[in-house]
Amino acid sequence: MDLTFSERETAFRDELREWFGANDPGPEPLHDERAHYAWRRDFQRRLYEGGWAAPHWPVEYGGRGATLTESAIFFEELGRARAPLPANVLGLLLGGPTLMVWGTEGQRERFLGPILSGEEIWCQGFSEPEAGSDLAALKTRAERDGDGWVVTGQKVWTSGAQYAKWCMLLARTDADVPKHKGLTYFLMDMDQPAVHVRPLRQITGESEFNELFVEGARIADDCVIGGVGNGWKVALTTLMNERAGLAFFLQVRLRRLLDDLIDEAAARGLLDDDVVADRLGALHVKAEILRLTAYRGLTAIEKYGQPGPEGSLTKWMWSETNQQLVQVGAELLGSDALVAGTRWGYELLRARGNTLEGGTTEILKNIVAERVLGLPRAH
Ligand SMILES: Cc1cc2nc3c(=O)[nH]c(=O)nc-3n(C[C@H](O)[C@H](O)[C@H](O)COP(=O)(O)OP(=O)(O)OC[C@H]3O[C@@H](n4cnc5c(N)ncnc54)[C@H](O)[C@@H]3O)c2cc1C
Repeated sequence: MDLTFSERETAFRDELREWFGANDPGPEPLHDERAHYAWRRDFQRRLYEGGWAAPHWPVEYGGRGATLTESAIFFEELGRARAPLPANVLGLLLGGPTLMVWGTEGQRERFLGPILSGEEIWCQGFSEPEAGSDLAALKTRAERDGDGWVVTGQKVWTSGAQYAKWCMLLARTDADVPKHKGLTYFLMDMDQPAVHVRPLRQITGESEFNELFVEGARIADDCVIGGVGNGWKVALTTLMNERAGLAFFLQVRLRRLLDDLIDEAAARGLLDDDVVADRLGALHVKAEILRLTAYRGLTAIEKYGQPGPEGSLTKWMWSETNQQLVQVGAELLGSDALVAGTRWGYELLRARGNTLEGGTTEILKNIVAERVLGLPRAH
């Protein structure tokens, strides 16, 4: 991939920079989760009004038809402006692109607009207490009932369910066929009495994710995505978009965190220490490798039209590097980083989940081994 920006790309970047210059996201609310979410939602609304909510979406669906390099520029500039990831990130990066591949024209028309504006927030109901890495083992059942479906089961780790209107729900519709074949992908309206959301408290003190109890929820037939029994394939589209789409933002965020750590180390006069300089230098090299690998992932999308398993590599590298970075941060900043409620204390604790969320490192290594390198399956 050629990393020199074309005239069009430079113009895109300048226009975006100007927009961010005029639309300061304001200070990040640090100690109030609801206020933090409202801040992200408000910023998404401003992005939407400026036509920037999802530049990578086709123009016909409200995007800008941005090229892959332009979407990379978008995330770079978002990070540069210290702007938050839009509140409806799961709808914008996962749900929307999944509908573009598998949805009917009617479904796209109904759902894409409110995803963009942030009017309807989406969450992802895949994982269950006994089905995480082995997602196809999930037990949530959907049974036909007249012209719709009745769903019963439990999901867990459902991020943002407390704010969501729609849930990308994977459920079993046929228990008599091999496990991958009996699944269907639904959009479930969260706004019904049969859906109960119970927040789970994380090590950071926040509750980003939840348990989701579904006790006879109704789903209309026109909320089946990609056909009955085809849920596994549709879910893979969502998961590949999750890893590839977030990769860019995450590497930009990591770079920002590293720059801040270098500034903090400099302010404490620590950069003259060879060991410190060496550790920060090693992190710098990893951050650069990550950036270039994220660009390489874009080339794959350009070639094949959809993100491929290479996204797993970036997710794996990012999560391990981020954990090393916050650990170095804690060591350099000492007790300052170990106090609850501080920025570095938060980063240290939040990073523990990085090697689990969006696919554990072990699972990502299996994907890279089998589907990128073509090595034989372990079993
Ligand atoms: C912050 C955060 C947000 C999340 N948000 C969502 C969300 O919005 N929606 C959603 O559906 N899920 C979400 N998840 C869940 C996430 O996808 C799962 O945690 C993940 O898939 C792992 O599943 P599990 O927790 O059941 O662990 P398990 O699958 O039980 O794994 C336990 C351990 O065994 C290892 N292991 C399992 N199978 C293998 C194998 N075949 N080979 C080698 N090692 C293996 C794993 O790597 C792991 O170390 C979130 C998780 C986190 C941490």
